[in-house]
Amino acid sequence: MDKISIVVPCFNEEEAISVYYRETCRVMQRVEGAEFEIIFVDDGSIDGTFRLIKELSEKDGRVKYLSFSRNFGKEAAIYAGLKNASGDFVATMDADLQDPPGLLEEMYRILTQEEYDSVATRRLDRSGEPRLRSVLSESFYKLINRISQTEIVSGARDYRLMKRKMVDAVLEMSEYNRFSKGIFEWVGFRTKWLEFPNVGRCAGETKWSLKKLFFYSLEGITGFSVAPLSLAAIIGVIFCLFSFAMILVIVVRTIVWGDPVSGWPSLACIIFMVSGIQLFCTGIVGEYLSKTYLETKRRPIFILKDSSEDSGGTGHEER
Ligand code: UDP
Ligand code: MG
Repeated sequence: MDKISIVVPCFNEEEAISVYYRETCRVMQRVEGAEFEIIFVDDGSIDGTFRLIKELSEKDGRVKYLSFSRNFGKEAAIYAGLKNASGDFVATMDADLQDPPGLLEEMYRILTQEEYDSVATRRLDRSGEPRLRSVLSESFYKLINRISQTEIVSGARDYRLMKRKMVDAVLEMSEYNRFSKGIFEWVGFRTKWLEFPNVGRCAGETKWSLKKLFFYSLEGITGFSVAPLSLAAIIGVIFCLFSFAMILVIVVRTIVWGDPVSGWPSLACIIFMVSGIQLFCTGIVGEYLSKTYLETKRRPIFILKDSSEDSGGTGHEER
């Protein structure tokens, strides 16, 4: 009999967990030929999340939990869950029912009957999302797909079911700056995409502010493309060519018409612009440098405070 592990990152989800559990139980009953385990990863919640998942785990042998010492972020929670999952198939899914558990049945059928190693999901629309957020997200996907070799699918959710060998490959990538949407693509394997209409949260509020999303997108860009590093060189060359042309124009103009020194406002503007571009390019280099710095520190990806099994570790051992 196959075993399916479901990894559920939870950060302050006390309102959603019971609803999620009830819904998932219904799905688990429907799927034939497989047993389940649910791994709730409490990502340093400050509400009743931990108490709830602990209670569930005491009542239901299929439920396990991991609890972090503080909020390490969803990426760390997914990593911890995958690391502790023992199934032949592993699913990652949100606790707020925005990833319909009902799809699991179909995903499992595809993996057992068709030649795929993973089934991923993407939402068809962004209904119910603020306009500004949709526009920014769309531009992010356009940009990253232009500059990165790894394809990042627009609207992709972190909801997917994978075979064990893919999970092991993902775990091999024990980098500190994690961007799952890229990691899942980078490891390869054959993936089938299922599409579903956007669903609102069943309870609670999104944990993603625009600021958090902005830094997350930087994570994606710096993690899966080094193209921005060439920007300084490219702009530098353009400016050099431009300045040669300018010098020529000015020299010729002075010789022919004898032009006195003038135009300091335009000079001031040029200085501001060029130094702005220089700072921007230094900033890009700094961004990569800071990521490298954090990677070289080899800090653990997460630290466990409590778990239903006592082992589990810190995401550090094999790094
Ligand atoms: N989450 C987490 N740690 C965080 C932020 C979020 O584990 O720091 C979890 C959250 O509990 C949820 C999932 O990640 O299960 C997705 O979060 P959310 O619904 O806020 O994001 P959205 O669906 O709006 O993208
Ligand atoms: Mg959500």
